[in-house]
Amino acid sequence: MQVWDRFYIGGQWVTAPGGNPLEVVNPSTEQVIASVPAGTADDVDAAVVAARVAFEDWAATAPAERAVLLSAAADALEARKDEVAALISSEMGTPLPFSLAVQVGNPITVLRSYATLLETYAFEEQVKNSLVVREAIGVVACITPWNYPLHQVVAKVAAALAAGCTVVLKPSEVAPLSAFVLAELFEQVGLPAGVFNLVTGLGPVVGEALAAHPDVDMVSFTGSTAAGKRVSEVASATVKKVSLELGGKSAFVVLDDADLGKAVKVGLGNAFMNGGQTCTAWTRMLVPAAQHDEVVELVRTAAEKYTVGAPDAEGTRIGPLANSNQLKRVRGYIQTALDEGATLVTGGAEPVAETGYYVRPTVFANVAPGSTLEQQEVFGPVLAVIPYTDDDDAVRIANDTPYGLSGGVFSGDQERALGVARRMRTGMVDVNGGRFNPLAPFGGYKQSGNGRELGEFGLEEFLEVKSMQL
Ligand code: NAD
Repeated sequence: MQVWDRFYIGGQWVTAPGGNPLEVVNPSTEQVIASVPAGTADDVDAAVVAARVAFEDWAATAPAERAVLLSAAADALEARKDEVAALISSEMGTPLPFSLAVQVGNPITVLRSYATLLETYAFEEQVKNSLVVREAIGVVACITPWNYPLHQVVAKVAAALAAGCTVVLKPSEVAPLSAFVLAELFEQVGLPAGVFNLVTGLGPVVGEALAAHPDVDMVSFTGSTAAGKRVSEVASATVKKVSLELGGKSAFVVLDDADLGKAVKVGLGNAFMNGGQTCTAWTRMLVPAAQHDEVVELVRTAAEKYTVGAPDAEGTRIGPLANSNQLKRVRGYIQTALDEGATLVTGGAEPVAETGYYVRPTVFANVAPGSTLEQQEVFGPVLAVIPYTDDDDAVRIANDTPYGLSGGVFSGDQERALGVARRMRTGMVDVNGGRFNPLAPFGGYKQSGNGRELGEFGLEEFLEVKSMQL
């Protein structure tokens, strides 16, 4: 068992004086594999002071200097990629190849993308008689979830550091281990003391202390909509900027001229990615009523090929859910869908194994718009197939949830698909299987959030704008 008993504050590994450590459980074996310290408001104070002290000098560094450090951090992470992938699989259950390619691969890409962006980004421009400059917003608190534990951290931290901000990170208590590795990497590459600080702990304690702190200039939060609302409330007393990346219930619209086989493959791959524990997952598949039954058969066949197993077992496509609460929650939603009359096509709530938080890939057909499964985020491998009458009806159903994060459209006609994509009230839409772009703005409409991450838009979240009239 790995015991982390220190925080990283002001360039030092400092003893965590707080209470009982928080246990990290392997969701496949249900064994405690590590513990991390539970921070307090005092630990938050110490970290914020360190970040404040470091801010002026860091914000004044040349962008090229920051780029060198981000690039070095990417190299250092790459050198430890197998170890970090195994760590993430052990703390939250994703199959090892996915951990390597996505859970660690994305952060490496994102760190490098910010190093590259700093070579060209114009921090200043002239607007008639004004010099307009973009400056680092200040001390940033980053609060992150467990589903892509390192990617969610790096999407914030790389952009904030590139902007010239200093950071206090509070990672998820469910999957905090890769954040300690990131602190080690920043220390190794020589990031100045206090520029990056790490305090672990519980959301209502450490997270709220950060959100409330008068010397934190901005909170960048990724997590559930409920916790995001609370963070906004707490932060409002100090009028700090709050950037939110929240939940979703995204729709994949299959148009009546689509190649159904291809559409089902793409749609299911997205819905079940990371065991459905993906904020952007297309958990609603909208299909023309006349083709509903045909699509359902294709989905059944494809879903039953998804192998459920241990993260390190050969051929596993769906690992365990990340923790016992998740298992309870996902099973609860499956039962509710049954109670509300949806047709179970495959899967179900029955236990899969004696040990481990496993659930079978589950598909419901004829799911009614407005039902619980159609409206609420499950965060597990549970797909709802929903019939619609025509394109207008599909757009109406797609837009009729409180969320607006992601979506997809599939059609034999790219222009028609794009037309539907334009009508979707979401921050991201993939057309005919368009690939994830780590430079494209990532974020949501409506209750899916209010900020953007990645690429230039992600950098600008952490910048203030000043105009000087000449
Ligand atoms: P969560 O909201 O429970 O926790 C997220 C983080 O917030 C954790 O670090 C947690 O400790 C902290 N937190 C909890 N309560 C808090 C409070 N009162 N004040 C301050 N911080 C608090 O979410 P989770 O279960 O870790 O992650 C799953 C959720 O995250 C899903 O809803 C998913 O859609 C969402 N998510 C969104 C995105 C996105 O980019 N939009 C990405 C990944 C996950």
